[in-house]
Amino acid sequence: MRTINCDVVVVGAGPAGSMTAKWAALGGADVVMIEKRPEIGSPIRCGEGISRSWLDRVGVKVDPKWVARTVKGAKIVSPSGKHMVMLDESKAGNEVGFVVDRVFFDKALARDAAEAGAKIMLKTAATSLIYEDGKIAGVRAVSHGEPVEIRANCVVGADGFESQVGRWAGIDTSLKATDIITCYQYRLTNIDYDPDFTEFLLGSVAPGGYAWIFPKDDNTANIGLGVLLTKIKKPGEVKECLDRWIARDPRLKNGQPLEAVSGAVSVCAPLDSVAIDNLLLVGDAARMINPITGGGIANSCYAGMFAGKVLAKAVKANDYSMKVLQEYEDDWRAKMENGLWRDWMAKEKLITLSDDTLEMLVEAVSKVELEKINVHTLLAAVKQTYPELVKEFEDLI
Ligand SMILES: Cc1cc2nc3c(=O)[nH]c(=O)nc-3n(C[C@H](O)[C@H](O)[C@H](O)COP(=O)(O)OP(=O)(O)OC[C@H]3O[C@@H](n4cnc5c(N)ncnc54)[C@H](O)[C@@H]3O)c2cc1C
Repeated sequence: MRTINCDVVVVGAGPAGSMTAKWAALGGADVVMIEKRPEIGSPIRCGEGISRSWLDRVGVKVDPKWVARTVKGAKIVSPSGKHMVMLDESKAGNEVGFVVDRVFFDKALARDAAEAGAKIMLKTAATSLIYEDGKIAGVRAVSHGEPVEIRANCVVGADGFESQVGRWAGIDTSLKATDIITCYQYRLTNIDYDPDFTEFLLGSVAPGGYAWIFPKDDNTANIGLGVLLTKIKKPGEVKECLDRWIARDPRLKNGQPLEAVSGAVSVCAPLDSVAIDNLLLVGDAARMINPITGGGIANSCYAGMFAGKVLAKAVKANDYSMKVLQEYEDDWRAKMENGLWRDWMAKEKLITLSDDTLEMLVEAVSKVELEKINVHTLLAAVKQTYPELVKEFEDLI
C-alpha cells in the first residue's frame, strides 16, 4: 500500500481545513490536506453570507472573484411581515456584508494553503485512524480508488457537519435532535426583491429556524430555510415549507431555480473537548456553528488559524500531545465559547416562542435605535415595550 509521511494530515478542504493547513504550513509544518470530493468548494451547501469584519483578522484577503454581492445590512422580519428590524452591516453579525461564491471562496483559501506549502489530494477520503503503540499516527484513506496510508504526527478533523474523525477518535460530537437544523435552499432567479439587504424571516414559515434571502445579483438570490429536526414530521417537509413560502411571497413567486441545496447545521452548545493527543477538530466537525444564525464560516476560519498556529509550535517542539495542543483549546474557547453558550441558550428559548410572541419581539426591537446588538441590548429594547416578555428570558440576563 502507498504510504505518505507528513507532520500534519488535514481531513477536509473546507474553510476550516484550508485555514488550518495554511497556518500550520506557514509555521513550517509539512502538511497534507485531503478532500474526498473531486473539486474544492463544489457542490455548494451554504447560504454564502459572511461579514467583512473578520476576514482581515484571519489573514484572508478580499478577492472580487469570490464576492458575489456586497450588501448594506440585514432585515429581520416578523412572522406576519408587518414589522422589521433593519441592521446595518456593522451590527448584523458574522454572516452579513458579503454574499460570496463558495466555489471560488473555498478554492481561494485552499490556494493560500498551497502557497504556504501544504499539499492537496483530491478524491481522497479518510476511512479510519491509524494507531501505533496506542497513539494516533495518521489516517487510512482511499485515494482515486486506491488505498493509501497517510502517516502523520497529528490528524486534523476538518470534515464538516457529518464529521467522522471525531467519532473515530472517541470524541463525543453527537448531537441531540433539538440541536440540528435541516435546510433546503434554491438559488432562485427572476425574483423582484431588494438586493441590497440580506433578509431573515422568523416564525412558523420555518419552525424552530428561519427563512433567508441572501442576494447574489439584482434578480437572483439564495433563498432557503432551516427547520429544527424535532419539528419535522415527514420526509420532504423542509422543501415543502420552502416551496410554500416562495409560492405565497409576491416577490419570489415567479422565481425559477438555478440550483437546489440541502444540508444540515448544528446549533448546539460548545463541546467539552475538541482536542486529544495527536488529534484535533476544527470548524463544523468541532460543532462551532453559531446556534442562532447557523453561520459557521467565520468560526471555522478562526479555529483553523488557531489550530494551524499551534500545530506549527507542535512541529517545532516535536510534541503533539495535549501539553502543546491545549493552547488550541484555550484560543478557540477564548474567542468563541461564551458567545456559543449565550447564543445556544437564546436559541433554546427562541424555538419555544409562538408567532405572536416573535411578532411582539420584532415590533419592540424595531422601535428603538440600537448602538450594539447582543442578547442584552435586544432584551433591554424589548423590556421598554413588553416588560412581561423579558421575564421569559431572565436566565439569559
Ligand atoms: C444550507 C446551509 C446554509 C449555510 N449558510 C451559511 C451562511 O450563509 N454563512 C455561514 O457562515 N455559514 C453557513 N452555513 C454553514 C457553513 O457552510 C459551514 O459552517 C462551513 O462550511 C464550515 O466549514 P468546514 O470547513 O468546517 O466544513 P465544510 O465546509 O463542510 O468542509 C468539510 C470538507 O470535508 C470533506 N470531507 C468530509 N469527510 C471527509 C473524509 N472522510 N475524507 C476527506 N474529506 C472529507 C467534505 O467533502 C468537505 O469539503 C450553511 C450551511 C448549510 C448547510
